[in-house]
Amino acid sequence: QVKAESKHINLVLSLNGKQKLVHVEGAVNAVDEDDLFINADHETIKTAVKNLVENAVNYSPEHTTVAVGIGSGDDEVAIRVVDQGIGIPESSLDRIFERFYRVDPARSRETGGTGLGLAITKHCVQDCGGTIAVWSREGEGSTFTITLPQAQAVETAETAETAGNVQTAEADRMEV
Ligand code: ATP
Ligand code: MG
Repeated sequence: QVKAESKHINLVLSLNGKQKLVHVEGAVNAVDEDDLFINADHETIKTAVKNLVENAVNYSPEHTTVAVGIGSGDDEVAIRVVDQGIGIPESSLDRIFERFYRVDPARSRETGGTGLGLAITKHCVQDCGGTIAVWSREGEGSTFTITLPQAQAVETAETAETAGNVQTAEADRMEV
């Protein structure tokens, strides 16, 4: 169940019949957001961001906020998903992108995942020529940052589609 109001979404998740309310907000942080382009397949990048938002919601307590931000660096575009959730122990940080790795199956049993989401996300990001990084502290939350090379703006939406160019501002309008 998703209620959208401009760039703010209140996402109510149903987990094993229990409802969970997490506030998801999006922001584009750039001088001129119309000039933010990446060279990437729309579905691929959407899958990557969707997995990160799903995790952020799954591993956060109710009534916390998940923020999705897009910003531009010199030649890069950064997509950031920030949560105030349970966090990831330091000893697990370099393993979470492995297939089937889950930090503690007991603590995340409720969410019933398979441990594939982040492995898929990393593949998607690399397919688009980008990198993914994580910061996390237990009890404080996690920040996942996707960094992609910035592309030149294309002339029309039509050429953007054939060239596979995606305006990254799309990401905060995605459906989760
Ligand atoms: P799937 O995504 O396949 O349904 P999953 O969520 O368990 O299952 P991944 O998305 O690959 O698998 O994440 C791997 C593990 O990393 C998770 O089981 C969880 O322990 C930890 N993790 C991932 N994202 C977060 C987060 N935002 N906060 C806390 N822990 C996280
Ligand atoms: Mg997951």
